[in-house]
Amino acid sequence: MHIAERISRLGTETAFEVLVKARALEAQGKSIVHLEIGEPDFDTPPNIIQAGKDALDNGFTHYGPAAGLPQARQAVADYVNRTRGYDKVKADHVVITPGAKPIMFFAMMACLDEGDEVIYPNPGFPIYESVINFLNAVPVPLQLREEKEFRFDVADLAASITSKTRMIIINTPQNPTGGILTREDLRQIADLAIKHDLIVLSDEIYSQVTYGDFKHTSITEFEGMYERTIILDGFSKTFAMTGWRLGYGIFPPDIAKVVAKLQTNVTSCTASFTQMAGIEALDDRTLPYVNDFLKEFENRRDVIVAGLNDIPGFRCHLPHAAFYVFPNITGTGMKSQECADFLLYEAGVACLSGTAFGAHGEGFIRFSYANSIENILEALRRIRIHIGERVAV
Ligand code: PLP
Repeated sequence: MHIAERISRLGTETAFEVLVKARALEAQGKSIVHLEIGEPDFDTPPNIIQAGKDALDNGFTHYGPAAGLPQARQAVADYVNRTRGYDKVKADHVVITPGAKPIMFFAMMACLDEGDEVIYPNPGFPIYESVINFLNAVPVPLQLREEKEFRFDVADLAASITSKTRMIIINTPQNPTGGILTREDLRQIADLAIKHDLIVLSDEIYSQVTYGDFKHTSITEFEGMYERTIILDGFSKTFAMTGWRLGYGIFPPDIAKVVAKLQTNVTSCTASFTQMAGIEALDDRTLPYVNDFLKEFENRRDVIVAGLNDIPGFRCHLPHAAFYVFPNITGTGMKSQECADFLLYEAGVACLSGTAFGAHGEGFIRFSYANSIENILEALRRIRIHIGERVAV
């Protein structure tokens, strides 16, 4: 059958492909430690599961409004106001979607014309570039710098802006590096966005997954930014709800209406009982569970960073957010993809090549430490042995 030309411009997310390869090796009897997929390994907190079950029993099994159930939109508005420390979000700015990912697609569909330039982080979440290309907009990658703890240089951003730039995508805290933009970075980005009349798509899905004294700052906190920013956030990472498929965007009201119309065309609406479970997730009752997740993630981070820095050829920053590490592997003498394949096929450790996140990911690989300390230690043991042998050759 004929496949439309536009499909050739669509990218993908390698994590799912590596998962398939790893599962195929397991089916052949090989033992694999899974450090490839970016999802918490914890169960969804029980109060959320109960709320989902209650919602099913109480008849939340029907279509709902395209933009989301009114009570869910209000709960999200209250939560975003509470976590960002302001009172700007109203329920009609919120659109609830099946996962946060559709917000990327919907936001860019709603705001970009062909030929518009979009600046986005590289290495970065691969779907940004995929959607930009799909829409025949122009991708303008902005390099994240290891020496700046994987922040970009705001001077590089300023130099990338042209009269055709329509949108800047920022992602803080960041996948795949765990990097965080500082308040000062965000202030300078805000100044540039206002000066050049740009839309900001702010992916804040890891906003609540921070460690130690590091707290998330949203660019929408700065004067004049809420009005020109789309916040992307959701339930997958903070509340261990990846499979529920629940996320949201915060938009200027006129854009929220357009996005609701897009949703009508694509999914009609997000599952009603899932939204009811989401309302429970946002309640303070869930906080003790989230705090336990964070404590456990922080311990795992410390174990994996110390372990990787002890392996010849690896150099790893201590990230302050998300659940990823992005070690520099140039000392192994291997390219990123070669190293990721070597670790999967020789050591039985699944991870992602840095290049899965863009060309500037060359020289790095990504591990997700959303796995038990026991499994992380086993992965480190295997890597040490196999890389040791390889580097010694
Ligand atoms: N944004 C970033 C940076 C992510 O890493 C992910 C998931 O990996 C998403 C958005 C999508 O989240 P969801 O699973 O809610 O669609």
